[in-house]
Amino acid sequence: MSQEDKKPGAPSATHKAQSVLAIDDTQDIHDLLRLRLRAEGIELFHAHSAADGIAQAKQLVPDLILLDIDMPKMNGFDVCRELKTEGTTAAIPVIFLSAASDVDDKVAGFDLGAVDFITKPFNTAELRARVRAALRTKRFQDMLAQRAQIDGLTGLWNRGYFNQRLQDEVAAARRYGREVTLVLVDLDHFKKINDGHGHPFGDRVLMATGEVLASSVRATDAACRYGGEEFGLILTETPATGALTCAQRIREQVEALGLMSKGKPVPVTASIGYASTGNFPKEQLTVQTLLDAADGALYAAKQGGRNRICEGEPPARSASITPE
Ligand code: GH3
Ligand code: MG
Ligand code: MG
Repeated sequence: MSQEDKKPGAPSATHKAQSVLAIDDTQDIHDLLRLRLRAEGIELFHAHSAADGIAQAKQLVPDLILLDIDMPKMNGFDVCRELKTEGTTAAIPVIFLSAASDVDDKVAGFDLGAVDFITKPFNTAELRARVRAALRTKRFQDMLAQRAQIDGLTGLWNRGYFNQRLQDEVAAARRYGREVTLVLVDLDHFKKINDGHGHPFGDRVLMATGEVLASSVRATDAACRYGGEEFGLILTETPATGALTCAQRIREQVEALGLMSKGKPVPVTASIGYASTGNFPKEQLTVQTLLDAADGALYAAKQGGRNRICEGEPPARSASITPE
């Protein structure tokens, strides 16, 4: 996953312009598309050959591809077939551009996973309407995909996203030596808060804590709800010292929440454990060892009296670990 692909620290409903990649060997078609789609508020990219189209599709991962069928060397069907077998490009909707309205071509195209056809010469209104419809569906799919990764109560990323993202980041740390710090935050005696003030109040505490966490991380980090009253932050390009500063800010802000119940502010505190990949010898770094280290530190913070922060250590060097 490149830096640009990374999702924001906390989920957000941004409505950035959608991108469209046109793949066609004829310059006139590109000029025409640029002209006709100008008013649609999309970002249009141009590829003039099948090979360039595949390369750009992999790099840009656009929201829609307009794909000419009739191209030299490799035709549009072959391009589509290749895009659909690649993980990064498989979900990009494809609209075929074809000179003739040949039914066999259309059947073949739909069988390959195309979402639509546009026949040349373009009817401007039809071209715009079909592009708009495909982009609308894509936006909807993106929204649903994102929603499946969001925690309903706090609006943070959920555990499913946390697990996937941690795996990606640990892999990147192993491969490129990147420093990633995992921070686990657990509310103190939360059961007592629920018991004393009711479950709905407990939910308010979780929501307020979620806001503190979302505002404490950078756009390239991930703030997640890991379990009931447990949260996990994945801080990218962050060594242990930076994570400690972040954890201190969080600890202070949670303590200062001052949520009121029965006319009185209810004390809320959190214990925090963190572990940084920078402290792990490469052969010992796995998702599990990093999680264990942060979890061990969280446990130490609880044992040490709660409302505090502890740093986790990699396992003793003698333990040999096989990376997954
Ligand atoms: P410790 O300081 O050791 O972490 O104690 P604790 O009471 O916070 O920890 P424990 O794991 O014993 O209790 C967690 C509580 O969190 C129990 C559970 O009812 C509550 N909880 C889990 N999910 C939710 C939720 O979505 N809303 C509310 N209000 N409470 C929840
Ligand atoms: Mg707790
Ligand atoms: Mg807990």
